[in-house]
Amino acid sequence: MSNFASQETNPWKAQSARFELAAQKLNLDPGLWKILSLPSREITVYVPVAMDNGTIEVFTGYRIQHSVARGPGKGGIRYAPDVSIEEVRALAAWMTWKCAVVDIPFGGAKGGVICNPQQMSQGELERMTRRYTAEIIDFIGPDKDVPAPDMNTNSQTMAWIMDTYSMHMHRTVTAVVTGKPINIGGSRGRVEATGRGVWVVTDEAIKKLGMSRPDTTVIVQGFGNVGSNAAKLMHRAGYKVIGVGEIGGGVINPRGIDIEALLVYHAANKTFDGFPGGDEISTADLLTSNCDVLVPAATENVITSQNAAQIKAKILVEGANGPTTAAADDILAANKVFVIPDILANAGGVTASYFEWVQDRQGYFWKESTVNEELDHIMRSSFENVVKYAELHNVNNRIAAYMLAIDRVAYTLKQRGLYA
Ligand code: GLU
Repeated sequence: MSNFASQETNPWKAQSARFELAAQKLNLDPGLWKILSLPSREITVYVPVAMDNGTIEVFTGYRIQHSVARGPGKGGIRYAPDVSIEEVRALAAWMTWKCAVVDIPFGGAKGGVICNPQQMSQGELERMTRRYTAEIIDFIGPDKDVPAPDMNTNSQTMAWIMDTYSMHMHRTVTAVVTGKPINIGGSRGRVEATGRGVWVVTDEAIKKLGMSRPDTTVIVQGFGNVGSNAAKLMHRAGYKVIGVGEIGGGVINPRGIDIEALLVYHAANKTFDGFPGGDEISTADLLTSNCDVLVPAATENVITSQNAAQIKAKILVEGANGPTTAAADDILAANKVFVIPDILANAGGVTASYFEWVQDRQGYFWKESTVNEELDHIMRSSFENVVKYAELHNVNNRIAAYMLAIDRVAYTLKQRGLYA
Protein backbone atom coordinates (compact mmCIF):
# COMPACT_ATOMS: atom_id res chain seq x y z
CA MET A 1 0.00 0.00 0.00
CA SER A 2 1.43 3.42 -0.88
CA ASN A 3 2.08 5.84 1.94
CA PHE A 4 -0.74 8.08 0.78
CA ALA A 5 -3.19 5.19 0.71
CA SER A 6 -2.17 3.98 4.16
CA GLN A 7 -2.56 7.53 5.52
CA GLU A 8 -5.99 7.76 3.91
CA THR A 9 -7.14 4.44 5.35
CA ASN A 10 -5.79 4.91 8.88
CA PRO A 11 -9.02 5.03 10.94
CA TRP A 12 -7.57 7.25 13.67
CA LYS A 13 -6.46 9.77 11.03
CA ALA A 14 -9.93 9.55 9.47
CA GLN A 15 -11.55 10.29 12.83
CA SER A 16 -9.12 13.08 13.67
CA ALA A 17 -9.54 14.80 10.30
CA ARG A 18 -13.30 15.14 10.83
CA PHE A 19 -12.86 16.10 14.49
CA GLU A 20 -10.42 18.89 13.60
CA LEU A 21 -12.71 20.27 10.91
CA ALA A 22 -15.76 20.26 13.18
CA ALA A 23 -13.83 21.67 16.16
CA GLN A 24 -12.57 24.52 13.97
CA LYS A 25 -16.08 25.36 12.78
CA LEU A 26 -17.28 25.29 16.39
CA ASN A 27 -14.45 27.52 17.50
CA LEU A 28 -13.84 24.96 20.24
CA ASP A 29 -11.96 26.08 23.33
CA PRO A 30 -8.27 25.04 22.83
CA GLY A 31 -8.12 23.19 26.18
CA LEU A 32 -11.24 21.14 25.47
CA TRP A 33 -9.89 20.55 21.98
CA LYS A 34 -6.74 19.01 23.46
CA ILE A 35 -8.76 16.80 25.82
CA LEU A 36 -11.11 15.52 23.13
CA SER A 37 -8.45 14.92 20.51
CA LEU A 38 -6.98 12.12 22.66
CA PRO A 39 -8.50 9.11 24.39
CA SER A 40 -8.72 9.20 28.17
CA ARG A 41 -7.42 5.67 28.78
CA GLU A 42 -5.88 2.88 26.69
CA ILE A 43 -5.46 -0.60 28.06
CA THR A 44 -3.38 -3.25 26.28
CA VAL A 45 -3.53 -6.81 27.54
CA TYR A 46 -1.76 -9.97 26.46
CA VAL A 47 -4.21 -12.82 26.77
CA PRO A 48 -2.86 -16.37 27.19
CA VAL A 49 -5.20 -19.09 25.95
CA ALA A 50 -4.89 -22.87 26.11
CA MET A 51 -5.62 -23.99 22.54
CA ASP A 52 -7.37 -27.25 21.67
CA ASN A 53 -4.15 -28.81 20.38
CA GLY A 54 -2.45 -28.46 23.77
CA THR A 55 -0.31 -25.39 22.93
CA ILE A 56 -0.62 -21.94 24.49
CA GLU A 57 -1.30 -18.91 22.32
CA VAL A 58 -1.02 -15.30 23.52
CA PHE A 59 -3.47 -12.81 21.94
CA THR A 60 -3.14 -9.03 22.09
CA GLY A 61 -6.27 -7.24 23.26
CA TYR A 62 -7.26 -3.62 23.79
CA ARG A 63 -9.92 -1.65 25.60
CA ILE A 64 -9.83 2.05 24.93
CA GLN A 65 -12.01 4.64 26.66
CA HIS A 66 -12.10 7.82 24.64
CA SER A 67 -14.39 9.83 26.90
CA VAL A 68 -16.43 9.15 30.03
CA ALA A 69 -17.61 12.74 30.42
CA ARG A 70 -21.29 12.09 29.61
CA GLY A 71 -21.51 8.71 31.33
CA PRO A 72 -19.90 5.26 31.43
CA GLY A 73 -17.83 4.22 28.44
CA LYS A 74 -19.89 2.34 25.85
CA GLY A 75 -18.90 0.37 22.80
CA GLY A 76 -18.38 -3.00 21.23
CA ILE A 77 -15.57 -5.52 21.25
CA ARG A 78 -14.34 -6.87 17.91
CA TYR A 79 -12.36 -9.98 17.10
CA ALA A 80 -10.38 -9.85 13.85
CA PRO A 81 -6.86 -10.46 12.53
CA ASP A 82 -6.44 -6.83 11.44
CA VAL A 83 -7.50 -5.19 14.72
CA SER A 84 -4.97 -2.48 15.64
CA ILE A 85 -4.66 0.02 18.47
CA GLU A 86 -5.26 2.90 16.06
CA GLU A 87 -8.44 1.27 14.78
CA VAL A 88 -9.78 0.64 18.30
CA ARG A 89 -8.85 4.22 19.27
CA ALA A 90 -10.83 5.58 16.33
CA LEU A 91 -13.80 3.32 17.06
CA ALA A 92 -13.77 4.48 20.70
CA ALA A 93 -13.90 8.14 19.65
CA TRP A 94 -16.68 7.37 17.17
CA MET A 95 -18.65 5.85 20.07
CA THR A 96 -18.27 9.11 22.03
CA TRP A 97 -19.67 11.11 19.12
CA LYS A 98 -22.35 8.51 18.32
CA CYS A 99 -23.74 8.44 21.87
CA ALA A 100 -23.73 12.24 21.94
CA VAL A 101 -25.50 12.53 18.55
CA VAL A 102 -28.40 10.40 19.80
CA ASP A 103 -28.12 12.05 23.21
CA ILE A 104 -27.84 8.94 25.38
CA PRO A 105 -25.93 9.15 28.69
CA PHE A 106 -22.76 7.30 27.73
CA GLY A 107 -19.21 8.14 26.82
CA GLY A 108 -17.29 6.24 24.15
CA ALA A 109 -15.13 3.12 24.35
CA LYS A 110 -14.15 0.17 22.21
CA GLY A 111 -12.33 -3.13 22.56
CA GLY A 112 -10.63 -5.51 20.22
CA VAL A 113 -8.60 -8.68 20.22
CA ILE A 114 -6.20 -9.57 17.39
CA CYS A 115 -7.20 -13.12 16.46
CA ASN A 116 -8.74 -15.13 13.67
CA PRO A 117 -12.12 -16.17 15.07
CA GLN A 118 -13.04 -18.17 11.94
CA GLN A 119 -10.19 -20.54 12.73
CA MET A 120 -10.92 -20.91 16.44
CA SER A 121 -13.20 -23.42 18.14
CA GLN A 122 -16.03 -22.36 20.46
CA GLY A 123 -13.94 -23.55 23.41
CA GLU A 124 -10.95 -21.45 22.35
CA LEU A 125 -13.17 -18.42 21.82
CA GLU A 126 -14.76 -18.88 25.23
CA ARG A 127 -11.40 -19.20 27.02
CA MET A 128 -10.01 -16.17 25.17
CA THR A 129 -13.11 -14.11 25.97
CA ARG A 130 -13.07 -15.03 29.66
CA ARG A 131 -9.35 -14.31 30.09
CA TYR A 132 -9.62 -11.03 28.16
CA THR A 133 -12.50 -10.05 30.45
CA ALA A 134 -10.48 -10.96 33.55
CA GLU A 135 -7.57 -8.83 32.30
CA ILE A 136 -9.73 -5.70 31.85
CA ILE A 137 -12.07 -6.38 34.78
CA ASP A 138 -11.01 -3.39 36.89
CA PHE A 139 -11.91 -1.02 34.07
CA ILE A 140 -15.38 -2.27 33.08
CA GLY A 141 -18.69 -2.32 34.94
CA PRO A 142 -22.24 -0.93 34.67
CA ASP A 143 -21.09 2.51 35.87
CA LYS A 144 -17.62 2.42 34.31
CA ASP A 145 -17.60 0.98 30.83
CA VAL A 146 -20.19 -1.31 29.21
CA PRO A 147 -19.03 -3.49 26.28
CA ALA A 148 -21.28 -4.89 23.54
CA PRO A 149 -20.98 -6.98 20.38
CA ASP A 150 -19.16 -5.75 17.29
CA MET A 151 -17.49 -7.55 14.36
CA ASN A 152 -17.23 -11.31 15.03
CA THR A 153 -18.68 -11.12 18.54
CA ASN A 154 -22.30 -11.85 19.44
CA SER A 155 -24.75 -12.55 22.27
CA GLN A 156 -22.83 -15.70 23.27
CA THR A 157 -19.64 -13.64 23.67
CA MET A 158 -21.56 -11.19 25.85
CA ALA A 159 -22.95 -14.05 27.98
CA TRP A 160 -19.37 -15.25 28.67
CA ILE A 161 -18.26 -11.72 29.60
CA MET A 162 -21.27 -11.24 31.87
CA ASP A 163 -20.62 -14.58 33.56
CA THR A 164 -16.89 -13.96 34.05
CA TYR A 165 -17.53 -10.50 35.49
CA SER A 166 -20.30 -11.88 37.73
CA MET A 167 -18.05 -14.67 39.05
CA HIS A 168 -15.46 -12.06 40.06
CA MET A 169 -18.12 -9.89 41.76
CA HIS A 170 -19.81 -12.88 43.45
CA ARG A 171 -23.22 -11.78 42.14
CA THR A 172 -25.01 -11.60 38.81
CA VAL A 173 -24.30 -8.27 37.12
CA THR A 174 -26.27 -8.24 33.90
CA ALA A 175 -25.73 -4.53 33.17
CA VAL A 176 -21.96 -4.97 32.63
CA VAL A 177 -22.53 -5.73 28.94
CA THR A 178 -25.33 -5.26 26.40
CA GLY A 179 -26.31 -7.40 23.45
CA LYS A 180 -26.87 -10.41 25.74
CA PRO A 181 -29.25 -13.29 25.09
CA ILE A 182 -32.79 -12.29 26.10
CA ASN A 183 -33.15 -14.80 28.95
CA ILE A 184 -30.14 -13.39 30.81
CA GLY A 185 -30.92 -9.70 30.65
CA GLY A 186 -30.84 -8.99 26.94
CA SER A 187 -33.33 -6.62 25.36
CA ARG A 188 -35.97 -7.52 22.85
CA GLY A 189 -35.19 -5.81 19.57
CA ARG A 190 -31.44 -5.40 20.21
CA VAL A 191 -30.32 -7.83 17.49
CA GLU A 192 -32.22 -5.98 14.76
CA ALA A 193 -31.70 -2.50 16.22
CA THR A 194 -28.75 -1.30 14.12
CA GLY A 195 -30.44 -2.44 10.89
CA ARG A 196 -33.72 -0.89 12.06
CA GLY A 197 -31.98 2.42 12.71
CA VAL A 198 -30.47 2.31 9.21
CA TRP A 199 -33.95 1.82 7.79
CA VAL A 200 -35.49 4.61 9.88
CA VAL A 201 -32.93 7.24 8.86
CA THR A 202 -33.21 6.15 5.22
CA ASP A 203 -36.97 6.69 5.48
CA GLU A 204 -36.36 10.22 6.74
CA ALA A 205 -33.87 10.92 3.94
CA ILE A 206 -36.14 9.77 1.11
CA LYS A 207 -39.00 11.80 2.60
CA LYS A 208 -36.77 14.83 2.57
CA LEU A 209 -35.72 14.24 -1.03
CA GLY A 210 -39.28 13.60 -2.18
CA MET A 211 -38.78 9.92 -3.01
CA SER A 212 -41.03 6.96 -2.17
CA ARG A 213 -40.12 3.48 -0.92
CA PRO A 214 -41.23 1.38 -3.94
CA ASP A 215 -39.29 3.64 -6.33
CA THR A 216 -36.15 3.62 -4.22
CA THR A 217 -33.49 1.08 -5.19
CA VAL A 218 -31.12 -0.05 -2.46
CA ILE A 219 -27.74 -1.80 -2.43
CA VAL A 220 -26.41 -3.22 0.83
CA GLN A 221 -22.72 -4.10 1.11
CA GLY A 222 -22.07 -6.40 4.09
CA PHE A 223 -24.35 -9.18 5.27
CA GLY A 224 -23.50 -9.50 8.94
CA ASN A 225 -25.87 -8.40 11.68
CA VAL A 226 -26.25 -4.83 10.36
CA GLY A 227 -26.45 -5.49 6.61
CA SER A 228 -28.72 -8.53 6.75
CA ASN A 229 -31.22 -6.87 9.11
CA ALA A 230 -31.18 -3.60 7.17
CA ALA A 231 -31.82 -5.47 3.89
CA LYS A 232 -34.58 -7.56 5.48
CA LEU A 233 -36.40 -4.66 7.14
CA MET A 234 -36.12 -2.38 4.10
CA HIS A 235 -37.37 -5.15 1.80
CA ARG A 236 -40.33 -5.76 4.14
CA ALA A 237 -41.05 -2.03 4.24
CA GLY A 238 -41.38 -1.97 0.44
CA TYR A 239 -37.99 -0.70 -0.71
CA LYS A 240 -36.56 -2.29 -3.85
CA VAL A 241 -33.38 -3.97 -2.65
CA ILE A 242 -31.46 -4.70 -5.88
CA GLY A 243 -28.04 -5.71 -4.61
CA VAL A 244 -26.45 -7.38 -1.62
CA GLY A 245 -22.85 -8.40 -1.09
CA GLU A 246 -20.15 -9.46 1.33
CA ILE A 247 -16.37 -9.99 1.17
CA GLY A 248 -16.52 -12.88 -1.30
CA GLY A 249 -18.90 -11.14 -3.73
CA GLY A 250 -22.56 -10.43 -4.09
CA VAL A 251 -25.74 -10.71 -6.05
CA ILE A 252 -27.53 -8.11 -8.13
CA ASN A 253 -30.93 -7.92 -9.80
CA PRO A 254 -32.23 -4.55 -11.04
CA ARG A 255 -35.81 -5.86 -10.79
CA GLY A 256 -35.37 -6.42 -7.05
CA ILE A 257 -34.18 -9.35 -4.93
CA ASP A 258 -36.45 -11.51 -2.79
CA ILE A 259 -34.53 -10.87 0.43
CA GLU A 260 -36.51 -13.45 2.43
CA ALA A 261 -35.44 -16.13 -0.06
CA LEU A 262 -31.87 -14.81 -0.05
CA LEU A 263 -31.71 -15.00 3.76
CA VAL A 264 -32.77 -18.65 3.66
CA TYR A 265 -30.28 -19.41 0.86
CA HIS A 266 -27.42 -17.64 2.62
CA ALA A 267 -28.12 -19.35 5.95
CA ALA A 268 -28.01 -22.75 4.26
CA ASN A 269 -25.06 -22.16 1.88
CA LYS A 270 -23.02 -19.44 3.66
CA THR A 271 -22.57 -17.77 0.26
CA PHE A 272 -24.59 -15.92 -2.40
CA ASP A 273 -23.01 -18.02 -5.17
CA GLY A 274 -25.65 -19.93 -7.08
CA PHE A 275 -28.60 -17.93 -5.73
CA PRO A 276 -31.19 -18.18 -8.51
CA GLY A 277 -32.80 -14.75 -7.94
CA GLY A 278 -29.98 -12.57 -9.34
CA ASP A 279 -26.59 -12.35 -11.04
CA GLU A 280 -23.19 -12.61 -9.36
CA ILE A 281 -21.23 -9.40 -8.93
CA SER A 282 -17.93 -8.45 -7.30
CA THR A 283 -18.01 -6.29 -4.19
CA ALA A 284 -16.11 -3.51 -5.98
CA ASP A 285 -18.67 -3.42 -8.82
CA LEU A 286 -21.57 -3.62 -6.39
CA LEU A 287 -20.48 -0.39 -4.68
CA THR A 288 -20.44 1.55 -7.95
CA SER A 289 -23.61 0.05 -9.46
CA ASN A 290 -26.68 2.17 -10.22
CA CYS A 291 -28.91 2.63 -7.16
CA ASP A 292 -30.62 5.34 -5.12
CA VAL A 293 -29.44 4.25 -1.67
CA LEU A 294 -26.08 2.62 -0.91
CA VAL A 295 -25.62 1.07 2.54
CA PRO A 296 -22.00 0.11 3.29
CA ALA A 297 -22.54 -2.13 6.31
CA ALA A 298 -19.34 -4.16 6.54
CA THR A 299 -16.16 -2.43 7.60
CA GLU A 300 -13.90 0.61 7.27
CA ASN A 301 -12.49 2.18 4.10
CA VAL A 302 -14.73 0.78 1.39
CA ILE A 303 -15.38 4.23 -0.12
CA THR A 304 -12.07 5.96 -0.75
CA SER A 305 -10.53 8.51 -3.12
CA GLN A 306 -10.17 5.58 -5.56
CA ASN A 307 -13.88 4.85 -6.05
CA ALA A 308 -15.85 7.77 -4.53
CA ALA A 309 -16.28 9.51 -7.91
CA GLN A 310 -17.91 6.36 -9.32
CA ILE A 311 -20.55 6.09 -6.58
CA LYS A 312 -23.94 6.53 -8.27
CA ALA A 313 -26.18 6.49 -5.19
CA LYS A 314 -28.07 9.66 -4.25
CA ILE A 315 -28.05 8.67 -0.58
CA LEU A 316 -25.21 7.00 1.32
CA VAL A 317 -26.27 5.42 4.62
CA GLU A 318 -23.26 4.30 6.66
CA GLY A 319 -24.27 1.12 8.48
CA ALA A 320 -20.61 0.34 9.25
CA ASN A 321 -18.23 2.47 11.29
CA GLY A 322 -15.83 4.47 9.15
CA PRO A 323 -16.73 3.06 5.71
CA THR A 324 -15.82 6.38 4.02
CA THR A 325 -12.39 8.00 4.16
CA ALA A 326 -11.96 11.72 4.80
CA ALA A 327 -10.57 12.19 1.26
CA ALA A 328 -13.71 10.57 -0.16
CA ASP A 329 -15.94 13.02 1.78
CA ASP A 330 -14.96 15.90 -0.50
CA ILE A 331 -15.65 13.91 -3.65
CA LEU A 332 -19.08 12.82 -2.40
CA ALA A 333 -19.89 16.38 -1.36
CA ALA A 334 -18.89 17.71 -4.80
CA ASN A 335 -21.22 15.12 -6.36
CA LYS A 336 -24.04 16.13 -3.99
CA VAL A 337 -24.44 12.70 -2.43
CA PHE A 338 -26.67 12.96 0.65
CA VAL A 339 -24.57 11.24 3.33
CA ILE A 340 -26.07 9.89 6.55
CA PRO A 341 -22.84 9.52 8.53
CA ASP A 342 -21.97 6.43 10.58
CA ILE A 343 -22.25 8.20 13.95
CA LEU A 344 -25.91 8.81 13.13
CA ALA A 345 -26.84 6.03 10.70
CA ASN A 346 -25.67 3.09 12.79
CA ALA A 347 -26.54 4.55 16.21
CA GLY A 348 -29.64 2.34 16.50
CA GLY A 349 -27.50 -0.44 17.98
CA VAL A 350 -26.09 1.53 20.86
CA THR A 351 -29.46 3.18 21.43
CA ALA A 352 -31.07 -0.23 21.98
CA SER A 353 -28.04 -1.09 24.14
CA TYR A 354 -28.93 1.90 26.28
CA PHE A 355 -32.48 0.50 26.63
CA GLU A 356 -30.99 -2.87 27.61
CA TRP A 357 -28.81 -1.25 30.29
CA VAL A 358 -31.81 0.66 31.65
CA GLN A 359 -33.94 -2.52 31.73
CA ASP A 360 -31.18 -4.50 33.49
CA ARG A 361 -30.77 -1.83 36.15
CA GLN A 362 -34.50 -1.62 36.68
CA GLY A 363 -35.13 -5.36 36.48
CA TYR A 364 -38.14 -4.62 34.31
CA PHE A 365 -38.21 -5.73 30.69
CA TRP A 366 -39.98 -3.97 27.85
CA LYS A 367 -42.15 -5.32 25.04
CA GLU A 368 -40.45 -5.41 21.65
CA SER A 369 -42.90 -2.82 20.35
CA THR A 370 -41.84 -0.43 23.15
CA VAL A 371 -38.15 -0.86 22.25
CA ASN A 372 -38.90 -0.26 18.56
CA GLU A 373 -41.07 2.80 19.22
CA GLU A 374 -38.50 4.42 21.49
CA LEU A 375 -35.75 3.61 19.00
CA ASP A 376 -37.74 5.07 16.13
CA HIS A 377 -38.33 8.24 18.03
CA ILE A 378 -34.65 8.76 18.92
CA MET A 379 -33.42 7.96 15.40
CA ARG A 380 -35.95 10.26 13.70
CA SER A 381 -35.35 13.19 15.99
CA SER A 382 -31.56 12.75 15.80
CA PHE A 383 -31.76 12.73 11.99
CA GLU A 384 -33.79 15.92 12.07
CA ASN A 385 -31.37 17.60 14.48
CA VAL A 386 -28.34 16.73 12.35
CA VAL A 387 -29.90 17.80 9.06
CA LYS A 388 -31.20 21.08 10.55
CA TYR A 389 -27.79 21.75 12.06
CA ALA A 390 -26.14 21.12 8.67
CA GLU A 391 -28.49 23.56 6.95
CA LEU A 392 -28.12 26.18 9.65
CA HIS A 393 -24.32 26.08 9.66
CA ASN A 394 -23.90 25.35 5.97
CA VAL A 395 -21.83 22.19 6.47
CA ASN A 396 -22.34 18.63 5.28
CA ASN A 397 -24.25 16.12 7.40
CA ARG A 398 -21.13 14.41 8.69
CA ILE A 399 -19.51 17.58 9.96
CA ALA A 400 -22.88 18.67 11.39
CA ALA A 401 -23.12 15.40 13.34
CA TYR A 402 -19.58 15.84 14.66
CA MET A 403 -20.26 19.48 15.60
CA LEU A 404 -23.45 18.59 17.43
CA ALA A 405 -21.69 15.77 19.28
CA ILE A 406 -18.51 17.68 20.12
CA ASP A 407 -20.57 20.62 21.36
CA ARG A 408 -22.56 18.34 23.70
CA VAL A 409 -19.46 16.61 25.10
CA ALA A 410 -17.57 19.91 25.44
CA TYR A 411 -20.52 21.47 27.27
CA THR A 412 -20.52 18.60 29.78
CA LEU A 413 -16.76 18.85 30.27
CA LYS A 414 -17.15 22.56 31.00
CA GLN A 415 -20.00 21.96 33.46
CA ARG A 416 -18.15 19.22 35.31
CA GLY A 417 -14.90 21.20 35.41
CA LEU A 418 -11.43 19.76 35.59
CA TYR A 419 -10.58 17.45 38.47
CA ALA A 420 -7.10 18.32 39.68
N1 GLU B 1 -20.61 -2.14 18.23
C1 GLU B 1 -21.78 -1.35 18.01
C2 GLU B 1 -21.40 0.01 17.48
O1 GLU B 1 -20.37 0.18 16.87
C3 GLU B 1 -22.68 -1.29 19.24
C4 GLU B 1 -22.10 -0.67 20.46
C5 GLU B 1 -22.99 -0.82 21.69
O2 GLU B 1 -24.11 -1.29 21.58
O3 GLU B 1 -22.49 -0.45 22.75
O4 GLU B 1 -22.14 0.95 17.56
